[in-house]
This record gives sequence, structure tokens and C-alpha cells, in this order.
Amino acid sequence: MSDIETRTGTTESGVSGVEIVLDSVTKRYPGHHDPAVDSVSLTIPAGEIVVLVGPSGCGKTTTMRMINRLIEPTSGAITIDGRDAASMNPDRLRRGIGYSIQQAGLFPHMTVAKNIATVPGLVGWHRKRIDTRVDEMLELVGLDPASYRDRYPRQLSGGQQQRVGVARALAADPPVLLMDEPFGAVDPITRGLLQDELLRLQADLGKTIVFVTHDFTEAVKLGDRIAVLGNQSRILQYDTPATILADPADETVAGFVGADASLKQLTLTRVGDVELGRCPTALEQDPVEDLRNALTGKDWPWALVLDGHRRPLRWVSAQQLAHADALRGTGTPIGEILSLKSTLQDALEALLTHQTATAVVTGTRGEYVGLITIDTLVRHLSAMRAEHGSDSAAPAELP
Ligand code: ATP
Repeated sequence: MSDIETRTGTTESGVSGVEIVLDSVTKRYPGHHDPAVDSVSLTIPAGEIVVLVGPSGCGKTTTMRMINRLIEPTSGAITIDGRDAASMNPDRLRRGIGYSIQQAGLFPHMTVAKNIATVPGLVGWHRKRIDTRVDEMLELVGLDPASYRDRYPRQLSGGQQQRVGVARALAADPPVLLMDEPFGAVDPITRGLLQDELLRLQADLGKTIVFVTHDFTEAVKLGDRIAVLGNQSRILQYDTPATILADPADETVAGFVGADASLKQLTLTRVGDVELGRCPTALEQDPVEDLRNALTGKDWPWALVLDGHRRPLRWVSAQQLAHADALRGTGTPIGEILSLKSTLQDALEALLTHQTATAVVTGTRGEYVGLITIDTLVRHLSAMRAEHGSDSAAPAELP
């Protein structure tokens, strides 16, 4: 059994991932004169998310698939946790590397549980341990085991299939996870939620994750570092998202970053990192009178009605309360809810989509934690512009 296969658990620093080093790696497909990947050297630090981003056909997938030897390099060396990948048994190597792809790649004739159990089964775990692990993994990705274990992939939405794909990739606790456009096939809102969940998981798991996308905003949101690739996977810049946004290495990278670099900087900050607003709240069964009093004389006469677990149910205005006998059934829908892991870019999109100036933020159990407003975003952008000396942001266009 290889080292990377058996290595589980996290270190004191919370890192369970291992370093991956690509040294002058080249792939030449048979019958093609030019290499698809030409002499790429890249060090992917243990426990980080490194995003490979670049235009279609530049060699991202080829580069990634050489790490788990689904594609064999023509020349060069790849080491994983200091061991030469070429010297390992490819099947064993792959069992130590989770792999998640677009449209989840689930086995259609197998239930969700069987899909997730694949690699633990292959590496010889006992049935009971596998059963427990399947439930743990489903809970980890936010799916209720009792409802989803026995379903088939066709009975799931695209977003749910992607969640199961991630659960399957993580099931045997591999130190390395390769993700090839895993959220490419879902709608933008689900995509944002799946990204948030991946970040939440990674905060606990500390895996080494190599993530391929052609969406630069996704790269900025997810990456500890981004490798911007040009033709034949030539590395145009390899740096933190903040540095690439503030200081693109050349014209090509600048073009990729786009003219709205300042707005993209909103992707660098999480909702949980800024000061959140507050408003009066009440539980559904509380007296109307108390909330009416709490709103008296307020400039912004809105409050939130919460359920017994303090999860937001509805907005209520002073006007609506003036004629209400009870909070149950009174008020207007909340609209999109943001999590502490959402980025300020997600917040901006939510506010613009719902044409409101305020969105509700909830914590890990869905409980109300505060409000984010358009003013917070404008202030944040202005501060970043001042810091980076940029004049291309567009807060003036915001409502
Ligand atoms: P995309 O974003 O469109 O998925 P990519 O950046 O992941 O693209 P690759 O799929 O790695 O790019 O392909 C890189 C180049 O190698 C492309 O020109 C592609 O046509 C070529 N290529 C990929 N797989 C093969 C193959 N099996 N045989 C021959 N050429 C291939």
C-alpha cells in the first residue's frame, strides 16, 4: 500500500494534504507535433487549494490528469508527498487521490450509497465502517442520509449529484483531491452554494486540492493560489488571487482578469469578514406588541421573524405590524440568504438580483447572524481602491 493511500488524519495545523511537485512535465499526444502540455513546473503546497485557470484547450485537464496518472506524462517527473508518482502502482495511486468531475461522473446503475462506497470498498474497509462513512459523507455535503442513500443518480438534481460526487471523492479520506470543473454544469446560484460548501469542508479537512476551471471569478473565490495558464499549460502567473488581481504579470493575464478587476476583488472577502448590520428580531410566537415597540422611531422600520431555531422566516415592516394580531403569517419573503462563507461578490449579485439593499446572513446551522447591505459593499470597494491605488472600480454605478 502506498504512503499517500494510508495517510489519514490532520496535523496540528489542520493540514491532511500533501505537497505535489510537477517538474518539467510534458505531454505529447500520439500523432501530434506540438505537446499539449509543455514542460510545466509547479509546486502545489500541502493543504492548499490551487486553481488551474486558462482558456479552453490550454491543457488544464491534461495537466491535472497526469497527477493521478489517468494520463501518463511523456517526460518530466511528478512527486506526491516526496514520492515519484511514476514508481507507484497507478491503481493504488488513484485510490489515494479523490477525483471529482463535471456532471459528477456518478455510476448511473448504482445507488448514492454504492457510489460513495466505491473506493473504501476497493481499499478493503469493513462493511460496517463503509456504512458509517457513507452516512458521514452525505451529512458532510448537506444531504440527509435517510432520504438519499438509496436513490439513483437520475433521481437527484444536478447540484445534488455534484454533492454526491464530492462525497465520493472524499470517502476514503484521500490527502489529495483533483476537481475538474466540478461545478461547471449547475446553475449559478447552486454553483455559489457548492463553492461555499467546498470552502467550509476544506477549512476542516485541509486537503491538497487541485481545481480546474475556466471561470476566473471561481478561481479567485476558491484558490489559495491560482496558476494562470496559457497555451500548452505555460504558466503565465502563479500567485495568490489578491496579487494576480492587483498586479497581473502581463497583458494576457490582465486580459483574463478582465476590466472589472476591482469588482472581482469583492470575491476575495467573505461576508463573515465584514461587520454585519443588525435589525430587531422576534420569534414567531412572540407578541406583536414587543416588535412594534422595537421598531418605533427607527429610520429603517424592518424586523425579522425567526423560527424556534432562530432561522429567518420573513421580513416584517412597522406598517405590516400596525394591523397584525400575530407574527405568524405576517410579513414578506426573505429572498436570497447568504452564508458567512459567501463572498462579497455573491452578496452583490444577490442584492442586485433581488433589487433590495439588504440581505440576511445565516450561520452554519441556518441561524440568523446579521445583515449585509449595499453600503457595506460600497465602503469595502472604496477601501480596497484606496489601498491598491486603483481607479477602475465601479461603485458609482451601484444603486
Ligand atoms: P477545456 O477547458 O476545453 O476542457 P483544457 O484546457 O482542459 O480544455 P485539455 O483537455 O487538456 O485542455 O486539452 C489540451 C489539448 O490537448 C487540446 O488541444 C486537446 O485537443 C488536446 N487533447 C486532449 N486530449 C487529447 C487526446 N486524448 N488525444 C489527442 N489530443 C488531445
